[in-house]
Order: sequence, then structure tokens, then C-alpha cells
Amino acid sequence: FGSVRALHKDNRTATPQNFSNYESMKQDFKLGIPEYFNFAEDVLDQWTDKEKAGKKPSNPAFWWINRNGEEMRWSFEELGSLSRKFANILSEVCSLQRGDRVILILPRVPEWWLANVACLRTGTVLIPGTTQLTQKDILYRLQSSKANCIITNDVLAPAVDAVASKCENLHSKLIVSENSREGWGNLKELMKHASDSHTCVKTKHNEIMAIFFTSGTSGYPKMTAHTHSSFGLGLSVNGRFWLDLTPSDVMWNTSDTGWAKSAWSSVFSPWIQGACVFTHHLPRFEPTSILQTLSKYPITVFCSAPTVYRMLVQNDMTSYKFKSLKHCVSAGEPITPDVTEKWRNKTGLDIYEGYGQTETVLICGNFKGMKIKPGSMGKPSPAFNVKIVDVNGNVLPPGQEGDIGIQVLPNRPFGLFTHYVDNPSKTASTLRGNFYITGDRGYMDKDGYFWFVARADDVILSSGYRIGPFEVENALNEHPSVAESAVVSSPDPIRGEVVKAFVVLNPDYKSHDQEQLIKEIQEHVKKTTAPYKYPRKVEFIQELPKTISGKTKRNELRKKEWKTI
Ligand code: ATP
Ligand code: MG
Repeated sequence: FGSVRALHKDNRTATPQNFSNYESMKQDFKLGIPEYFNFAEDVLDQWTDKEKAGKKPSNPAFWWINRNGEEMRWSFEELGSLSRKFANILSEVCSLQRGDRVILILPRVPEWWLANVACLRTGTVLIPGTTQLTQKDILYRLQSSKANCIITNDVLAPAVDAVASKCENLHSKLIVSENSREGWGNLKELMKHASDSHTCVKTKHNEIMAIFFTSGTSGYPKMTAHTHSSFGLGLSVNGRFWLDLTPSDVMWNTSDTGWAKSAWSSVFSPWIQGACVFTHHLPRFEPTSILQTLSKYPITVFCSAPTVYRMLVQNDMTSYKFKSLKHCVSAGEPITPDVTEKWRNKTGLDIYEGYGQTETVLICGNFKGMKIKPGSMGKPSPAFNVKIVDVNGNVLPPGQEGDIGIQVLPNRPFGLFTHYVDNPSKTASTLRGNFYITGDRGYMDKDGYFWFVARADDVILSSGYRIGPFEVENALNEHPSVAESAVVSSPDPIRGEVVKAFVVLNPDYKSHDQEQLIKEIQEHVKKTTAPYKYPRKVEFIQELPKTISGKTKRNELRKKEWKTI
């Protein structure tokens, strides 16, 4: 079979991925699915063997820093040994069986990575959650996921204890702390005495490996189940082609540990390629810390969200030199061309946009060696057959807008979730004809590039036109007064609905005459994009409602407009 072991054998993971063209890259992606697959044994332990044999660069597997100057580096061998100790704790101290569910809510501490690998080794199902969850959110997650074990820290343990009696499946709790806590196993203490001898569970490729909560941009987060092969093997498309990683690379992804994006870019994609996972225990978002870290450490590949790039380019970056940095990527929301251009001016590097979901691996991406069309999400990843489809599931020709779909019949590709847990109707609603419907609207141009229009729910229908907020926001963001904007539909007695822009002003413009500014902004949009899209209503606000991961919650603004909340 063409599993990762086979990739190791012919050394394909170790060579740079600069394919001369997109077609040759697609040709190169031929992974078969083995019957049994476990990322810990089939990938990580393979890298340990190569490391021991001196067949890989001496890069660490994991490199952690915090802002007190503390550092931690593990080789693949150390990662293996520590994660085996952790695995023994899960099985013996926590009495977890294969298939049991483990909620992991930790900030960017090394134990988060160990827990990821320990769950793989024990065949327990990992459910990551963000540390920004409140007591109510934790209760929702514990109950809806029927978790058997929770791993967290001092900050969140009291919230867990307050709701634990309402969670009938929860029978073990592990705390990552210097102090002991009644009713909790202390991980640091337990690690001192645990054995590092452990036999990895032989998981089937189609066994559930993890459940990820979606970001909750358009409603309650959905529980998305992934198998061992879907991320463990499927994310090799991200690692090899989009992130362009080799074992000499040091990859830093800034996303919060609670999202599938962390599994994407802080666990599977870099480690499939034998690259070093770099992380900074940043408790809060601080642009200057990010810029300092990028210039001080030999980070070669950087992955972040559009909102982070937007804030970084607002800083004076002239005093920083990014000597090692060679590849930058962004995903999670559209990145606007004004940000990519500023980033290029300041660093000399392009931002390679990728598009995907918690439900998938990379769907579309800009790959090294490919011409970037600013504003486009690039071309389909080799993992999927991506098409634009109509309401009946027919494939639409280039240039026509429709739903972005992934072909799932006759064969469901791996790299795609299996189902939304305990929600068969929601799972079924994503299928139309031969396609999984992403819920996003877009079109493909004649060169095969995909362009994001909007989430299907965000499309505005005004006077017979369909308007995607993204294009209008792009135009707005180019105006010097606009720091950020969100565009939604608003009721109108004549037109049914019209375009409304919520705008956060740059500080210098806050004292300007607002009526005058609204007119200027409207004129600017009319000139920059098709005039029918200009916002007939404009409202200035202090900040946009966002998800924890920093995505704009347009549905909240829209509901307010339509007074449904
Ligand atoms: P929920 O499903 O709970 O509403 P969510 O869709 O934001 O939340 P994620 O799975 O984290 O949860 O995000 C995937 C979505 O993010 C995509 O469906 C798409 O709408 C958006 N997205 C991701 N990458 C891009 C991109 N490059 N351009 C435009 N949109 C993107
Ligand atoms: Mg979604």
C-alpha cells in the first residue's frame, strides 16, 4: 500500500516539494489506505528510527518557548518516550479503554502535544477544546461529547468541578499543574513514575480518532468525527504541498489548541513530513511577540489566521529581520489582497492562502511554484475532486457561482469527516447528488482557480442580485478610514434586503464628520466594485463580534438587523 511507511521508504517526505506544475503535483499524490493505521506508530516512531540511524537532519521534533525565556526541545525519541508514559497513565490511572473519549483543554503547553500522541497510542478519542471556554461551554462540551476523561489546568479545573456531577460519563480527571487537587490525577507527578514501555493500539484506518468542534461561526459548534486515516494520512497533502515542509523545516502555527486547525498545522502536517513543530506559549495575542519570535528563532514556515496577519501588518516591521522565514500561509477566513500586499512589501514573502474546514483536510490551496492570483483560494488539493455545483448537484461550468462541493460518490475520499456526532440529519444535509456540500459559495475561473464568494448563509439577495459580503468588505478595507468591516443583509421596505456595512474606523478617523465619511466610503465602494454592491447602510462600531478563533460572526450582526435576537 502507499501509506506513510511507503513514503518513508522511498524518501519522498524528505525532498522539497517544488513541483514544476500543478498537474505533476497531483500525479504525485497517490496514497492508498492501509487496513490498520496509527499515526504514532506508523509515522512518529518511523521518524524516531530515522533519527536514531542519523537519516534525518538534527532538527528537534518539538520546540516550545514561553515569554519568560524558558525553552523545551524534544527529539522524536523523547516525544515517543514521554507520550508512552502518558499513554500508560491514560490506560492504567484513568482506566480508559480504546474508543473512550478524552476532552483536552490546555493552552499551548508541551503536555497538550503529549496528550495528542498518548490518545493515538491508546486508541482513545481526542476532543480538543479551547481554554477560552466558560463553565457553560465546558458543560455543553462534556455532555454533548459524553466524555469519559478531561485533561485541563488550574484555571479551568474549578469550572469542571462545578459541572462534573451533571456529566454522567466523566470518570477521570487529569490536571497539568504544580499543585495537587482533590479528585484529580496530577499529570506531572504521575509522569515521574510512569513506565515508558507501551504497545501502541493497532487501530483500524476507519476507526474514530478524534472529534473536533467547529468554530461556531454560524451557530452552535458541531462535533466532527475524523478517523485515524482521515487526518493521520490525509493531512499529508497539507504538509507536503501547501506547507512545503521537509525534515529541515521549523514550522510555527499560531492557532489556538482548541481547533482542528491545530491538528492540521501543529500536529499532523508537520510531523508527517518529519519537520519540527515550533510553538510559543502566548497567552494573549501580541503582535510584537509574534514579530520578535519570527525574527529570533529559525522558523522557516509560518501559518496564521487572516486577522493575525492584518494586525501584524499594522505594525512598524522595519526593525525586524526574518532571516529563516521562507514560506507563509493563511487559512480560516478569506485573506484580503490589501493584507497580502502589505505583508509582501514588509517581508518580501507571499502569503499562500489555503481553504478548508474542520470537516476536511485542505480543500483548495496555493501551492509553491504555482502562480498566485491575489484573492483566490488557489486550486483543489490533490486529496479531493472539488467542483462548483448547483441546487440539483450538477457540476457548473467555469465562471458560474454555486456551492463548493467535494465529490464523495462512488468513493468517499479520505481526509473527509465521517459524520457529525449524534446528528444524523445534519450529516445527511451535507450530501447532494455525488457531493459533500461545504456550505460555502464560490466559483472556478477558466484557469481552474477557485474564488470564495461567501458562506451560503451570508449571501445577500438585493433587487435580484446575489451579493457576497467578502467582495464588498474587500473594497471597504481598501479605504484608509476602515480598520475592519463586516457586511450583512438588512431589511428594506422596497428592495426586501439591502447591503449594510458595519465598519470599525481607524483611530485617526474617529473624529471626522461621520455623515461625510459614510458618503466617501460609499463612493469608494461604488468605484472599486460593481456599484450595485455598495452598502446603502453604513454603521460605525467599536469592534466586530468574533469567534474565539477570530472569525467575524456575520450571523450575529444579521440577526440584530432582522431583530430576531
Ligand atoms: P461553523 O461550522 O461552526 O459555523 P466554521 O465554519 O467557521 O464554524 P471551521 O471549520 O473552523 O468552522 O471553518 C471552516 C470555514 O471557514 C469554511 O467553511 C469557510 O467558510 C471558512 N474558510 C476557511 N478558509 C477559508 C479561506 N481561505 N477563504 C474563505 N473562507 C475560508
Ligand atoms: Mg462550518
